[in-house]
Amino acid sequence: MSMDDRTCVITGSAKGIGRGIAEYLGEEGANVVINYRSSEGAAHEAVEAIESSGGSAVAARADVADRAEVEHMREVCHEAFGSCDVLVNNAGITADKQFTEMSREEWDRVMDVNLGGMFNCTQLFYDDIWNADEGRLINISSVVGKQGNFGQANYATAKSGMFGFTRTIALELAKGGSTANCVAPGFTATDMLASVPEEVLDRIIAGIPLERLAEVEDIAAVVRFLASKDSSYVTGEVIDVNGGMDL
Ligand code: NAP
Repeated sequence: MSMDDRTCVITGSAKGIGRGIAEYLGEEGANVVINYRSSEGAAHEAVEAIESSGGSAVAARADVADRAEVEHMREVCHEAFGSCDVLVNNAGITADKQFTEMSREEWDRVMDVNLGGMFNCTQLFYDDIWNADEGRLINISSVVGKQGNFGQANYATAKSGMFGFTRTIALELAKGGSTANCVAPGFTATDMLASVPEEVLDRIIAGIPLERLAEVEDIAAVVRFLASKDSSYVTGEVIDVNGGMDL
């Protein structure tokens, strides 16, 4: 599944799932753009980790919800490596609240980052992906987009919105030979779960047939396949990586 000379932009890749994806693609020989918003130190560590495994990487600060900042990230990518072959829309946030207590601001913030960020990045890198030799768009959704989750009306709406977006872009990209797919992780051991109380995590794990949370490597391995040319005939799909949660 060599990624030699393929340039990959991964949003929110200084830590968590994005970092795992970046390191896997870097190990395969990809040129990696590490995007961050606030985790500057971790972004530079990620660049060093990829370089020390023999890959090439550059850090680019951009709030994905801000189109001008995404334009800047595209310039950083083009200057460092040229055109982007693979875009992974991974940056995401939660702002949990039972629906009746949820403010419009909490709703909008989750939409702006999870969906607005995907819109900005996909539109600004669209020509690159279209013109690539088998370009790839990979959107990181969530099991919550399929199943819903108490206290996450905003997040579940954003994550299920990614499914319709991905299927549509898959149709629009297909004539050019590029693909678009979604990965829907289950509950994954990252900072995003840090505020979830232990007894709630225990209940979640009890409901997972494989009886554990996902590690970032579980998600990154599937993204690595989708990013490679081994996935040429897979498009418009949602790949669940959730330990069997919906069995
Ligand atoms: P995480 O550790 O909290 O990381 C989130 C990443 O998103 C950070 O790198 C953060 O960058 C970045 N980010 C947030 N807002 C951003 C913005 N406006 N612009 C640019 N980057 C931004 O979470 P994670 O678990 O790795 O989540 C990664 C993706 O997987 C998200 O889309 C999440 O919804 C999805 N997911 C996670 C789980 C889970 O259980 N963990 C399950 C299913 C799906 P900075 O730190 O630089 O601000």
